[in-house]
Amino acid sequence: MIDTQELTIATALDRLADGAFSARELAESYLVTAKEKNTNVNAYLEYYDDALHMADAVAERIKAGETLPLAGIPLAIKDNILILGKRASAGSKILESYTATYDATVIRRLREAGAVFLGRANMDEFAMGSSTETSAYGITKNPLDTTRVPGGSSGGSAAAVAMGGALAALGSDTGGSIRQPAAFVGLVGLKPTYGAVSRSGLMALASSLDQIGPITKTVADAEIFFRVISGSDPKDGTTAQESDTLSRKPMNGAKRLGVPEHLLEERGIDDDVRDNFRAMASLLQKDGFTLVPIELPHIAYSLPTYYIIMPAEASSNLARYDGIRYGLSIGGETLLDTYVNTRTDGFGAEVRRRVLFGTSVLSTGYYDAYYKKATDVRALIRDDFAIAFENVDAIITPTTPTPAFKIGEKARDPLAMYYSDVLTVPANLSGIPALSVPSGTVMRDGSALPVGFQIMAPHFREDILFTVGRAVERLARTGEHYV
Ligand code: GLN
Repeated sequence: MIDTQELTIATALDRLADGAFSARELAESYLVTAKEKNTNVNAYLEYYDDALHMADAVAERIKAGETLPLAGIPLAIKDNILILGKRASAGSKILESYTATYDATVIRRLREAGAVFLGRANMDEFAMGSSTETSAYGITKNPLDTTRVPGGSSGGSAAAVAMGGALAALGSDTGGSIRQPAAFVGLVGLKPTYGAVSRSGLMALASSLDQIGPITKTVADAEIFFRVISGSDPKDGTTAQESDTLSRKPMNGAKRLGVPEHLLEERGIDDDVRDNFRAMASLLQKDGFTLVPIELPHIAYSLPTYYIIMPAEASSNLARYDGIRYGLSIGGETLLDTYVNTRTDGFGAEVRRRVLFGTSVLSTGYYDAYYKKATDVRALIRDDFAIAFENVDAIITPTTPTPAFKIGEKARDPLAMYYSDVLTVPANLSGIPALSVPSGTVMRDGSALPVGFQIMAPHFREDILFTVGRAVERLARTGEHYV
């Protein structure tokens, strides 16, 4: 029997190379566990019927002498990333019957690297949410405590890995949707630099904020995965040229970590989450890192800025779901009736709320007061980071203000839900890379719930994230300080 919980990408690659099991046996084990756990957790919306065939094809390629960086690694794919010939619904009823007509660039790269796609993971509708409760296909539960949410919007991807139903997963992160669910289920989540990974074939939410990235069990796995999916792509003009991303110089000896003290004092950050962060920060200090108090003067405006820019871009991107071009169509007497009927029936409440809000901040009379001002503040936030990075190698914060919350706890209070993103949206607004690494647990109602430690670095310095992340991972393993 293969223990699907215990394997990592790195150990599975070794065992496959040793012949301890075949790619097919590995994929089968993950599918068996996925199906068993999914009845309760609802992480997967569908299992791909060609998964075992993919595994066999990889075995053939290895036999033919190819070396593949993700040979036979079974993955869950978020429902907003296109795979040729497969359904992709972005968790929405409006795309219930939509079948993708091409492979996303990340999918093509993963295929070339030998990965095996097990199935499609549940998500908040069009990636709007922090709990996977806005999916049109039912909520996903946190496998560590099924009375709680797995975070969102990539909650299905995170839960699939946490329940032993995939070895790693693809997610997308517009304001925290990879890092927050990874933190809520005790996994590693990477939001790459804007432009490091192609967005071709990712259903657009907010085009200036979206990035695809991995959810994995270890920092080493995130690094393997990132190397496969990153790189320039002629199909996405915002991807960086190879020369930009290859300027990664090894981290110098300084290892200076900036701590935005004022941000930690935000109300809404749970005391034990803050204590956990401080305990890990002081372990890093003992380990040879230098902690430097820093100021990010405009960071307090991140959340309002994000919740203007994101709905504005989303309202424009979602205009394409009109009952004519894709998916659901509910006809009416006039063309306008068709639009209204389709979008009223096809979109859930959160999507409608953001489309209305986004169109209003873009409309004449409000554009200057809201949208234009938000883009100005965004530039100030980006400058805050640039100035801080003149003096530090990385910036550290908790990933989220609380551990995983109860199902239903915030579903009726959009502002409380939006607050989950207070520590993650600044990286999206400024385009910098950010990594969440598990850092021990806090207790809630008798459950030990994981907490994430967030590391942010300058543009295209994912190497710094991995260096600091590996230290956090090592210190968390030996960390008696948490209990
Ligand atoms: N939770 C945030 C939102 O609702 C982030 C979503 C995301 O990153 N896709 O917008």
